[in-house]
Amino acid sequence: VAGLGARRESRKDVLLGGLVLPGFDEQSCASRYQSVYYRKNMTRSPTPYLIERLREQEALQRRCGPGSEPYMRASERLKSGEKNVDTVDGCSYLVLLAYRGLGNRILATASAFLYAMLTNRVLLVDRAKTLGDIFCEPFPGTTWLLPLDFPLEGYSDLSEEAAESYANVTLRNNTGPASEHRFVYITLDHGASAANRLAYCDDHRQFLHRVQWVVLRTDCYIAPSLFLNPAYQEELHRMFPRKDAVFYVISRYLLHPTNDVWGMVTRFYDSYLKNADETLGIQIRVLDEDTPPQNILDQILACTSQEHLLPGVVVAGAGGVPPPLQTRARTKAVLVTGLSGWHHDRIREMYWQSATADGEVVSVHQPSHEEFQEFFLAMHDMKALAEMYLLSMTDAIVTSGWSTFGYVGSGLGGLTPYHMMRPVHGKLPDTRCKRAMSMEPCAQGPAYFECTRREYNMVFHTNNMVPHVQACEDMAWGLKLT
Ligand code: GDP
Repeated sequence: VAGLGARRESRKDVLLGGLVLPGFDEQSCASRYQSVYYRKNMTRSPTPYLIERLREQEALQRRCGPGSEPYMRASERLKSGEKNVDTVDGCSYLVLLAYRGLGNRILATASAFLYAMLTNRVLLVDRAKTLGDIFCEPFPGTTWLLPLDFPLEGYSDLSEEAAESYANVTLRNNTGPASEHRFVYITLDHGASAANRLAYCDDHRQFLHRVQWVVLRTDCYIAPSLFLNPAYQEELHRMFPRKDAVFYVISRYLLHPTNDVWGMVTRFYDSYLKNADETLGIQIRVLDEDTPPQNILDQILACTSQEHLLPGVVVAGAGGVPPPLQTRARTKAVLVTGLSGWHHDRIREMYWQSATADGEVVSVHQPSHEEFQEFFLAMHDMKALAEMYLLSMTDAIVTSGWSTFGYVGSGLGGLTPYHMMRPVHGKLPDTRCKRAMSMEPCAQGPAYFECTRREYNMVFHTNNMVPHVQACEDMAWGLKLT
């Protein structure tokens, strides 16, 4: 596999077929135009129709976004609670409250953007303290950050119990004139009630699309569930004829790390990964605290050996094995990410203390070991994001099942991961790891609705109605696009 040098030699389409816009200030966000030189060629191209829709969305964001006249009128209405006013400006809004770890928030943001496009809404993202530090503005001439003076009091504490929640509004059958509603709050997170998840089925015959302000809270990747709504299917098909790369394509468009994060990515890449013949990413997320670290290490080594991702080592007999004279051995750089440094140290020691069976030279690198997950700390999130990008730049990737951190690492890179199955009560599953069906992230709290009948149905257990929406490999009740 060619390293960066070889990649740089070939002519690059810096604008990725229209996914990346020219005209932004290159200095203020270097990743936007540089990342093409670090990342592999896109394996899924955006369709002309998607590019057209993105340009329309940008125009909408500019026309109706913060600072514009329509935004001022709309926020005034939200503040005053004035009712019975039509959405005169054709501007309506999706305010996203993404929460939990960074992986969750990134999946929520990318898929909420898709939802905003499908419903012709301006996407405004609550900054959750660090968003502005880690991502550049995606839309030219406006901002996607929810203004600090956003007038809806207590919006970040809204819950399913709120009178304005989708479930409560629909249960009261109060879906008449949309202008009755100051705003509607929808929860589409992993634990949302079935009544709230019916929002996935809302379509043009329903009322939601006429409500000017929608506040959405989610910690999930909601894209697969949008494919279950017949009202969106044709449009989604035109945008994404290949359903297995929705996150991949959207993330290339929407997510551009800030200069500080991009500097961390490129410095690490240039120091440790660039010159290797091949690179492997191993993402370790220990979600079950009872699991002894040695069990996780055994699982990693069983997986990498089973899938021929890492060479075995020669166990030395008495007197040792004479090391071969290495002239031009193949090199493999292994990028390990995790909160603990223990697994990295053991793997590195293994390749230091013993020779590889095939003569390959293996180097092992871990950018950070933060020990604990932190919230609202810019540097902690910057490291996490830099590591997700580094994972995405490897040639193959092993991830921990259930982890959104791993979903983002593989999804950003267009890599179909090998998922390590999650240990249960400290015990390793019989299947150590499994190749995923696609590079798409798993939706961990999906819709389970047959929208045509408005029935809660766990669709993936029945004969699947939508063939490209399948049960996830690592979580039986999750859904993913394939
Ligand atoms: P998930 O909990 O595995 O689904 O992934 P999330 O990204 O949503 O949340 C885990 C959070 O813990 C990350 O966002 C980081 O803040 C932290 N974290 C977990 N694993 C790593 C890692 O390998 N590197 C770094 N830098 N942080 C990590």
